[in-house]
Amino acid sequence: MAYPKLEINLSKIYHNGKLLVEMCEKKGIEIAGVTKVFRGNPEIAKVLVDAGVSMLADSRIENIKKLKDIEIQKMLIRIPMLSEVEELVEYVDISINSELEVMDKISKEALRRNKVHQIMLMIDLGDLREGLWEDEIDSTVEQVLMMRGIQLAGLGANFGCYGGIVPERHTLEKLINIKQGIEKKYNISIPYLSGGNSNSLHLIWEEQMPEGINHLRIGYPFVLGKEDVYDQVIEGLYGDAFRLYGEIVEIKNKPSVPIGKRGIDAFGNMPEFIDRGIRKKAIVALGRQDVRLEGIMPKDDNVTILGASSDHLILDITDTETIYGLGDIMEFTVNYGALLAAMTSDYVEKEIIK
Ligand SMILES: *Cc1c(COP(=O)(O)O)cnc(C)c1O
Repeated sequence: MAYPKLEINLSKIYHNGKLLVEMCEKKGIEIAGVTKVFRGNPEIAKVLVDAGVSMLADSRIENIKKLKDIEIQKMLIRIPMLSEVEELVEYVDISINSELEVMDKISKEALRRNKVHQIMLMIDLGDLREGLWEDEIDSTVEQVLMMRGIQLAGLGANFGCYGGIVPERHTLEKLINIKQGIEKKYNISIPYLSGGNSNSLHLIWEEQMPEGINHLRIGYPFVLGKEDVYDQVIEGLYGDAFRLYGEIVEIKNKPSVPIGKRGIDAFGNMPEFIDRGIRKKAIVALGRQDVRLEGIMPKDDNVTILGASSDHLILDITDTETIYGLGDIMEFTVNYGALLAAMTSDYVEKEIIK
């Protein structure tokens, strides 16, 4: 097996999935399992389906295409580009939307293909990324309801992505009120009310999730056992379903401050060094082409990351209890950003274990 390697433990992901699905089910909430952090890998996505998610969701049609053999509703969770509407209607059942011009194009494309595409209208409740602003909801809904080939299947909101807004009970109650207002005015029923991403999960543990929210779009906690609000592994979940490994290619005692005339490093920065004397250092064959190094942590608490370039990770191993040798494999935990980068890098071997 080649290194660097990302090990993906399917039974841990299944365990995380099952627990989250059951937790949400108790509150009448379905989960769209978000596959973007593992690039729509169908083997991993299948595990989420087995665990009981009711849809698979991704921000890229490219990833959703990989899921076409899995029998389940597919959702696009990035507002579609005008230029991808044809593919959207072909591969995706339900998409989040905020622009009438796009929805009009979807409507025409769906009619042409004799299909009905489901629309989840996004409402911006303060995070300031995608979604309708309050004053345009009424007129938008009115026009969407007149379009053929599309069905208004839901309303949704997103949090914690641009504005870093944490949803509260009253925030989601506002969404519920908007939905009820529309249903009453037009005498329709809107099936889904999607209360956000993993940033909304805390409302469940805190018993603050208002009744009426029946859908969430969840990705992060399945893979890393965490969400951003509490930023710690959720009780009962595995935080290490993904593990990163790299191989040591050099071990030497060297000074802690570089010798010679100082210039900038390979990335245009002027790094600072503290003189801690001669230290025992290891180089691991792992670099910025493989992973987002700010997002990895050595599993061994006594190892510190000193720096990195495109292909080398420089570690201080002076204070470790384990005696490391050349060729040894070192393990790292990954955060969301690092996982995304490692999944995206062709240089990182992916090993799926069951
Ligand atoms: C990424 C994303 C999600 C999933 O967020 P997690 O934090 O991974 O649970 C949900 N909704 C939208 C619109 C997203 O872009």
